[in-house]
Amino acid sequence: MITCEVCGEESGGRYLCGRHAEQLAARLGDLPTLYDEVAQCLVPRGGGWGEIVSTRGAAGPRSPLDESVLDEVNAARAGEVVHLWRVDVQRERWPHHGAPDPAGLATDCRWLAMELEWVVANYPAAGELAREVRELETAARSIVGDPAPRAQRLGTCVAADMDGVVCGAVISRMPGQARVKCRWCGYVYETARDWGLLAGLQPEEAA
Ligand SMILES: [Zn+2]
Ligand SMILES: [Zn+2]
Repeated sequence: MITCEVCGEESGGRYLCGRHAEQLAARLGDLPTLYDEVAQCLVPRGGGWGEIVSTRGAAGPRSPLDESVLDEVNAARAGEVVHLWRVDVQRERWPHHGAPDPAGLATDCRWLAMELEWVVANYPAAGELAREVRELETAARSIVGDPAPRAQRLGTCVAADMDGVVCGAVISRMPGQARVKCRWCGYVYETARDWGLLAGLQPEEAA
């Protein structure tokens, strides 16, 4: 049985479950902007690479900017990594086509995002692709100082079935998310009343 390469959950015969396929799509969408921001962080306005070298020493030992980071985290390298994935996916999917020319990070990300349905259904390395894209995102965020938003745990699902048995699955949401569907019972938390019930009916915390 094929399970999600990232979380190991049942995925209906696909290499990524719905959640991780969505996550990969979102990351592919974000990467080009993120790496634009990385470029702005690393190159002082109006300056060239020479100036970066001189500010390195002045930043002091507490500077979060690791020297090696300058070599490793940049749009050119991210572009190379993503391009290699595109080359591989294209070779698997259309073996008779030649390898695509380097097209830039944004173009390759968009291409992969558009082929994601096929990737998830047919490409055994989908999990590895997802992992590398996540690493590229994490590396970029470590520089732009914008940690990926984390899901907030709101409590456990208070929806009850017809027998009055409370669901109890963990409910969490991303900051700003207005609608959350319980992954276990399918109850949708959406209205102020839903959120109120969710908060009000939480079981006592076991101390
Ligand atoms: Zn998954
Ligand atoms: Zn539930």
